[in-house]
Amino acid sequence: MRDIILDNLEVIQKKIKACCIQNHRDPKEVKLLLATKTVPPDRIQIALSAGYTCIAENKVQELREKYDHLRNIPHHSHFIGHLQTNKIKYILQHDVSCIQSIDRLDLAQKLNEKLKANNQFMDILIQVNTSKEKSKFGVAPDETIALIRQIVNLENVRIKGLMTIGLFSTNKEKVRECFRLLKNLQLAIIKADIPHVSMQELSMGMSGDYEIAIAEGATIVRIGTAIFGARIYPDSYYWNETHA
Ligand SMILES: *Cc1c(COP(=O)(O)O)cnc(C)c1O
Repeated sequence: MRDIILDNLEVIQKKIKACCIQNHRDPKEVKLLLATKTVPPDRIQIALSAGYTCIAENKVQELREKYDHLRNIPHHSHFIGHLQTNKIKYILQHDVSCIQSIDRLDLAQKLNEKLKANNQFMDILIQVNTSKEKSKFGVAPDETIALIRQIVNLENVRIKGLMTIGLFSTNKEKVRECFRLLKNLQLAIIKADIPHVSMQELSMGMSGDYEIAIAEGATIVRIGTAIFGARIYPDSYYWNETHA
């Protein structure tokens, strides 16, 4: 029997495409990133074998546990969870190509030091707290440009854009405001014309709100539940990283 993951992937891919067309966007502008937290490697392999090549973990521990099972299948791996400075070394050992959750200078500095020592480079996105909930990570919107001006001096990290987690709410307009705020920040940063800063990527939108995010300009949507099914842990377990 055909695996449900493949059906889900097809449905999501179609919806992304339809949503792009509806919003006068080129479907090639929107990348599907599979959020694979709690998903065992054999389930992830099904998606990778079907040609979906971008996956993302939230926890360093899961990244490490799954790495050996997935390394023989070509793919890109992003990191989207809260990152503690003492875990950076593991990120660098496991072929992560982009860290989407950089939200403070000391983290970027430590990352840069380690990268330099290894003669490595890393793409990063700046995570912005657009919902202004205290429980969420991310730099405050009005502090984002200042942070970018500091991080840009770190030679081994490359800023490629912004990431946010939208408000969890059934009020779609409130969710939309988060994404619109990120888009406006992107435009303001482009306008500031800071050398060596790319604002190409806007990573926003998850299973419940990716269509709104695409309408507001997302270039990366991060989708887990709608593809792999519900998780047993509440999301607060992943976003209030006290157990890491
Ligand atoms: C889990 C997670 C996602 C995907 O969430 P779903 O609702 O399962 O699609 C996206 N972004 C981040 C940062 C996540 O932790």
